[in-house]
Amino acid sequence: MQFDVLTLFPEMFSSLNESIIGRAKKNKQININLVNIRDFARNKHNKVDDTPYGGGAGMVMMPDVVYRAYESLNNKDNAKVIYMSPQGKTLNQKKVVELSKENHLIILCGHYEGIDQRVLDKIVDEEISIGDYVLTGGELPAMVLIDSVSRYVEGVLSDDSIKEESFSNGLLEYPQYTRPEVFEGMKVPEILLSGNHGEIDKWRKNQALEITKKKRPDLLLNK
Ligand code: SAM
Repeated sequence: MQFDVLTLFPEMFSSLNESIIGRAKKNKQININLVNIRDFARNKHNKVDDTPYGGGAGMVMMPDVVYRAYESLNNKDNAKVIYMSPQGKTLNQKKVVELSKENHLIILCGHYEGIDQRVLDKIVDEEISIGDYVLTGGELPAMVLIDSVSRYVEGVLSDDSIKEESFSNGLLEYPQYTRPEVFEGMKVPEILLSGNHGEIDKWRKNQALEITKKKRPDLLLNK
């Protein structure tokens, strides 16, 4: 899967070189192309923002600079353009799975007070938020999107880990345990040591239901 990211702060994305996403990049299961919007400024001081028309606080990213950055991308005709924005629909697992079926995502990160509305109207297909709070920029939200979507790209994770985890079947996941068998006087549930996979399966399903009832009863209403 191809991700093109339009950002003023490409260095922030270095954390995607680590762990599972870093491995997916190395294995060429995903490719992340970082485009520095500032490279497309055409003025003496590489200015990318200006004061808002009508007055008010902060600076607004200029439409022509953002548009030139977008225009520089290759093969974008079949790509979906996503603007990370607190005004977008909140990201959830259903949307993540839907986006993982795309071949090419172009992710636009705003900063400061945001981006001039005209270029958003021209190039953006969808606005996505990562929650009802405001961050300083779209870079962290873009990383959240890339991480969550990449997990569903074929080969990045085993099918089993995706099938069983929280939200995949409308429930939260059952509790997990590993060695040692006894920690601070607390024993691993006996059933997990029994080797009886049918009974373990039943226990896990029941735990998933109980945990969901306790922590996120709202999920059961949507089932
Ligand atoms: N003035 C904008 C508003 O009130 O709607 C907020 C701009 S915010 C300070 C700067 C940039 O951060 C936005 O353009 C967007 O790209 C990103 N951003 C901030 N919060 C976000 C969120 N919850 N989800 C996704 N992107 C967000």
